Amino acid sequence: MAKDACLFCRIAAGELPATVVYADDEVMAFRDIAARAPIHVLVIPRRHIVSVMDMSDEDEPLLGHMFSVIREVARQDGIAEAGFRVVSNAGPDGGQTVDHLHFHVFGGRFMTWPPG
Ligand code: 5GP
Ligand code: ZN
Repeated sequence: MAKDACLFCRIAAGELPATVVYADDEVMAFRDIAARAPIHVLVIPRRHIVSVMDMSDEDEPLLGHMFSVIREVARQDGIAEAGFRVVSNAGPDGGQTVDHLHFHVFGGRFMTWPPG
């Protein structure tokens, strides 16, 4: 998908609305429009990266920063102590539906295992 047409690029650019819970120069976090748990936040890089498979060695600091944001979101939403789940779907068999890298943060209830 072209970057211009990418849903999450458009959210990152402020062209589409989202309930943003964290934002800085590199990373944004916002509530999933179809929440699958009481807490369901998506953490994305502002830069268009399709999936985990499209990250490079140069992106290691970005990845570390995204996990720092995940910890911040977990603290803000009060799920740091009880626990939560972090998921990144990649490609067709991973069930990825938006081709812009994102980490799902699920919490607020017990997460069953394994995922479907
Ligand atoms: P994936 O299926 O690629 O792992 O996750 C994409 C997620 O994006 C889904 O959980 C879906 O509900 C969410 N989503 C799709 N469109 C929008 C939107 O316009 N706004 C928000 N906030 N979330 C969206
Ligand atoms: Zn994008």
